[in-house]
Amino acid sequence: MRQNESETGAGCLLVVITFIIAYIATPLSFLQLIVFIPIIYGAVFLIYQLYCNLYFNSSKFKIIKDSIQEYTKNSNELNHHIQELKCSYVNVKSYDYGESHLHDYSNYNFKRKEWSKDIKSNRVYNCSATVCKNASNQPFKYLCKYFDIKISEETLSNFESVLNDFAAAEQGKKLLQRERDAIMNNIKSSIPPLIYSFSKNRLIKELGFEVIDLSDLYFPVYTFQYVSAGGNSSSKCDIKLNVENLEKLIYYLNDLVKFRNSVEGQRALMTASLRERIKTRDNYTCRQCKLSTNDEKNLLLEIDHVIPLSKGGITSEDNLQTLCWKCNRSKGAKILADSFAPLG
Ligand SMILES: [Zn+2]
Repeated sequence: MRQNESETGAGCLLVVITFIIAYIATPLSFLQLIVFIPIIYGAVFLIYQLYCNLYFNSSKFKIIKDSIQEYTKNSNELNHHIQELKCSYVNVKSYDYGESHLHDYSNYNFKRKEWSKDIKSNRVYNCSATVCKNASNQPFKYLCKYFDIKISEETLSNFESVLNDFAAAEQGKKLLQRERDAIMNNIKSSIPPLIYSFSKNRLIKELGFEVIDLSDLYFPVYTFQYVSAGGNSSSKCDIKLNVENLEKLIYYLNDLVKFRNSVEGQRALMTASLRERIKTRDNYTCRQCKLSTNDEKNLLLEIDHVIPLSKGGITSEDNLQTLCWKCNRSKGAKILADSFAPLG
């Protein structure tokens, strides 16, 4: 929306400059015009850049920057926390099958263009066309079978923990963006409109905000890949473990684990509805520092296992609590420090 506004603004400015040029340039010949127009645009651009540099180095801008220092620091910390949450997939076991090189010594001139697209990774399985097709029909079954994902309570817990972190990261991204927009809106009247409309990204950077990575490239993708012997035909089936698919995967694993153990405990599943239920139960308030979404509209609340999964805790309503991201982060750091502490 705001980007559209600034684009419209830039468009208007260009039209105005073009009219001015047209007015000045009417008596000029065509050749003179070709030289004249870029010079005008260049001059306007240079003057604007100079104006920006002067503004960002001015004491007036420094006062605004200092006044929101606390918010930028908080926002950057949350940004780091979200980046950490995105890395939680390392807990899920993956096998390293080693490295090798395939050499093609064929005497015939096959057009093996598909071979050159061959991807080698722990998360790519080269298979027959039938397996590839079947994997697209029953993704989770084939994912567990061909990528050695053990169907067990431990795997289920690991995936639940990843889902919990990914869901928090996705929500955190939205809240972080909303909070940053709110801060920018608050200071809008103190910033020259020209800078606010045309150099918004630079303004955000100069204020000290770090870049928020809004992409979802961090979701793990497992691929089944078929390439024909001649290398002329190929097919691919990608299984992306985003939040929605992870939730389906834990339902799938849960059914199989239950089937194997044939015992149903008090165990709940870390689904979106359970996470929402826990937050509602705790009145959207951090159980540790008592901060709530009433105090801070864009506060990121996370669901925490009171007894961590790594210490034998399970996903059940009694063992879950709402914590704000800061308290959850410091709790996680403490558990990590404890587990490395010398025994005795
Ligand atoms: Zn807290």
